[in-house]
Amino acid sequence: MSEFIKAAKSLEKVLIAERRDFHRHPEVGYNEIRTSGIVAQLLDELGMQVQDGVGKTGVVGLLSGQHAGPTVLLRFDMDALPIQEENDVEYVSQNNGVMHACGHDGHVAIGMCVARMLAAHSDNLKGSIKFVFQPAEEGGAGAAAMIRDGVLLDPTPDYVYGMHLWNERPVGWVGATDGNMMAGSCSWQCTIVGNGGHAAAPQHTNDPAVAAAQIVMGLQTVVSRNLPPADAVVVSVTQIHCGDTHNVIPNEASLAGTLRYFSASAYETVTNSVTRIAEDIASAMGCSANVSFSTGYRPVSNNLDAARLVREQAQYVPEVNIVSNEERTAVSEDFSEFMVDIPGCYFFVGSSNSERGLAYPHHHPKFDIDEQSLTIGAAMMAGIASQHVL
Ligand SMILES: [Zn+2]
Ligand SMILES: [Zn+2]
Repeated sequence: MSEFIKAAKSLEKVLIAERRDFHRHPEVGYNEIRTSGIVAQLLDELGMQVQDGVGKTGVVGLLSGQHAGPTVLLRFDMDALPIQEENDVEYVSQNNGVMHACGHDGHVAIGMCVARMLAAHSDNLKGSIKFVFQPAEEGGAGAAAMIRDGVLLDPTPDYVYGMHLWNERPVGWVGATDGNMMAGSCSWQCTIVGNGGHAAAPQHTNDPAVAAAQIVMGLQTVVSRNLPPADAVVVSVTQIHCGDTHNVIPNEASLAGTLRYFSASAYETVTNSVTRIAEDIASAMGCSANVSFSTGYRPVSNNLDAARLVREQAQYVPEVNIVSNEERTAVSEDFSEFMVDIPGCYFFVGSSNSERGLAYPHHHPKFDIDEQSLTIGAAMMAGIASQHVL
């Protein structure tokens, strides 16, 4: 590990420069053309077997060792968000309305640094390392797109690792939680069909607006009355649409929102409860409700051995002063797609620094990181992979 800490330090200037370059040129999901082009060129120069266009704009580099051994997949996501940046920095976004407000610019730069560090050891490698640069993590299901294009084949990884720069925690903090770490998510939609008419003659109508309002209140009991108190679940209503004018009771109303959960059983209970409450309240009001759920991201659940390995490696990094096994968030991540059948760990690298004004949350127009987190992340990823193949 110590040599990767040194190597990451010696590459720090390049790492920061590349992160700032990606920050200046953010690209939203499935449009990471410039970003993936830079990545593919580097992986090629490093002598890897490179595949581009994996999951539309994803890039995969395979670093094969001279000796037999396991395959380790390291994943870095590349996409930016449709946000207008409000930072006043020299590396501010040059793409109007697009911003790296989640830290994926740092992830790509870290991935490139790790590729350089591990390629320098290719002669001694026992096994291989698959560098996966993923598009469209922000709700675009880029991981699933890459898997459909075969990223988990030829060779199939034995271990998968991913990381996120994490502004919820200060630089110097690293978190890898045993088991559940990030929630599963899915969006839901509900259409309520009633019978419209004159707003002055409600007796001739079945009002979908009133049914929708009661359903919103009914949904507040999904978590509180249907799930064990220890289950962390969120049901949020984020959209209510109904009617076009003041004197007409409309025929239809629609609701939509999101669910967050940590287990398959909680998911089943929540989806069943939402459906039952919406349908039965609508029916009681003389309306009907149709509820549907979109496929979202599964929970990120870490393998215990892999999470322990990540925490052990973190202990060796001098800049790391807190190593946590406690972090759990209702934010979702499609890294979970890579972990369905393969043991692995997704971990957070603290990246905020409130003294320097670098503590805005992810997806905020003033989001920015303490760049010291970049070398920590790079040393961690290289150190973790080396434990399996060096
Ligand atoms: Zn994000
Ligand atoms: Zn993110």
